[in-house]
Amino acid sequence: MIPAAKPIIGDEERAAVDRVLATGQLAQGTEVAAFEQEFGDQVVGGRTCIAVNSGTSGQHLGLLAAGIGPGDEVIVPSFTFAATANSVALTGATPVFADIEAGSFCLDPAAVEAAVTPRTKGVMPVHLYGHPADMTRLQEVADRHGLMVFEDAAQAHAASWQGRPVGSFGTFAMFSLYPTKNMTSGEGGMVACEGDVARRVRLLRNQGMEKQYENELVGLNNRMTNIHAAIGRVQLTKLAGWTKQRQDNARFFDESIEGVGLPPVADGATHVYHQYTIRVPGDRDRFAQALREEHGVGCGVYYPIPNHRLPSFGLELDLPETERAAREVLSIPVHPSLSQDDLETVVAAVNACAKAGA
Ligand SMILES: *Cc1c(COP(=O)(O)O)cnc(C)c1O
Repeated sequence: MIPAAKPIIGDEERAAVDRVLATGQLAQGTEVAAFEQEFGDQVVGGRTCIAVNSGTSGQHLGLLAAGIGPGDEVIVPSFTFAATANSVALTGATPVFADIEAGSFCLDPAAVEAAVTPRTKGVMPVHLYGHPADMTRLQEVADRHGLMVFEDAAQAHAASWQGRPVGSFGTFAMFSLYPTKNMTSGEGGMVACEGDVARRVRLLRNQGMEKQYENELVGLNNRMTNIHAAIGRVQLTKLAGWTKQRQDNARFFDESIEGVGLPPVADGATHVYHQYTIRVPGDRDRFAQALREEHGVGCGVYYPIPNHRLPSFGLELDLPETERAAREVLSIPVHPSLSQDDLETVVAAVNACAKAGA
């Protein structure tokens, strides 16, 4: 079976963990500070980065630090992982679901504008599958209505829009370091931001205190450990090579797969292919089952139920591109540990299933 995703953990990560364990300094310390500095320099053009224990924590703290709370609305896509809307709801604010573009699977700026109300404080695009959202048009909408922009960059390390890295646009941006993401620290997240927001994220991460036992805010314990940071630092040195491998794999698929919808790349977008996601207009679930059971090709549906219809939100809304994507999408393996043989197996399997379905 060719796995749908595969974290790559090598001897260097093991040695880095050993080195931290030998120091006895396990909780947040110098290793975390070094990881923050290196991640900021390498991924978001030198912007301040703050490490936390998960992407979800980062998103939650970023929203709290930006002043989002009860009575506020934040516009989010419904076609995403539940953490996007959950983090808004957990601040006491209301996530307002807007539709996506047919091409990029990311928030549609026109749909965002139509969803603005007097309570809207911000919009949180997701750079889904590693494809950047249209930050130019989203920023224009935000400027017209005085909104903040928050980036869910959980899947988009090293992606860019018009040459500018994702994570450098919003009031804050969150990157996830979960094992299946483009790089990992085990569990973890990074928040890119600056100024007062950065100061508040740091405080909220650590019980609201900068000086020990002189707590300024009501906060949480969302700290990253030195152990996780040590893994993340090694992974960061490999990110550029892995990203290029994902892009090369995607180019091979673009040139060789037939009979299904291929993922388009918008003008000015650098896609980092967290997922390579095709559209299967017929019976997608049967197609996925055949890929797995008849061809040994792992695959995944991200995401089968739009967030607004999850039991946790339970809303009835008219979001046609969201519904169509949830019915049609299928992500095939594109990760950097695929061999040329694997790539050819994936292509042959997808093409055979497409032909059988046609
Ligand atoms: C993974 C992910 C998150 C949450 O990140 P965790 O590190 O798992 O908490 C949020 N949004 C999106 C789009 C994700 O893919």
